[in-house]
Amino acid sequence: MDPASQDPSRHLTEDGRWTEPWGGSEDGRPCDKCRGRSQTGYTCWSCVLTGARSNCPVCQGKVRWPDRCPVCRGTGEVDGRPRHGVSVFPAVEGLYHYILRKDTDVEDSVVVELEAEPADDVDFDADQGAMLMVPRAILARDPADPEIAGRRSGAQRRTLRHPRRPPSVSRSP
Ligand SMILES: [Zn+2]
Ligand SMILES: [Zn+2]
Repeated sequence: MDPASQDPSRHLTEDGRWTEPWGGSEDGRPCDKCRGRSQTGYTCWSCVLTGARSNCPVCQGKVRWPDRCPVCRGTGEVDGRPRHGVSVFPAVEGLYHYILRKDTDVEDSVVVELEAEPADDVDFDADQGAMLMVPRAILARDPADPEIAGRRSGAQRRTLRHPRRPPSVSRSP
């Protein structure tokens, strides 16, 4: 998901393939995702909402599993440096679920469908079923629909406010 004002072809440039943590996770601070336990529970929301798929690039059909914390990489201290790859979900249902959980407005946003290859690094919110990918082509770009978002994500109706930051923030390190 991108701001509507952003040219999607930016993701095909090297500068447009970096992801930063989404607020709150400052480099070197104690990790609030795992609270120092090194591991955390992962949920592939794309598979929760659409049915487990053995060819899912995020979970291979596991849907829920424990793994090393993606924010601190198991060290207990946030590794907040930008990571290579664009933060994506394998199904739009997983994306909408994630965006609504962040209490973010999807108006003035677009959903960009990408053809992409897995990046080498782990997304900051991999435990929510996000993954980092290196885009090869832009397949589609459609306005994000708040109604579809609410329906598809299974989220309850609520008041949405403007995003603190655009969902897919990318920049050079
Ligand atoms: Zn952690
Ligand atoms: Zn999955």
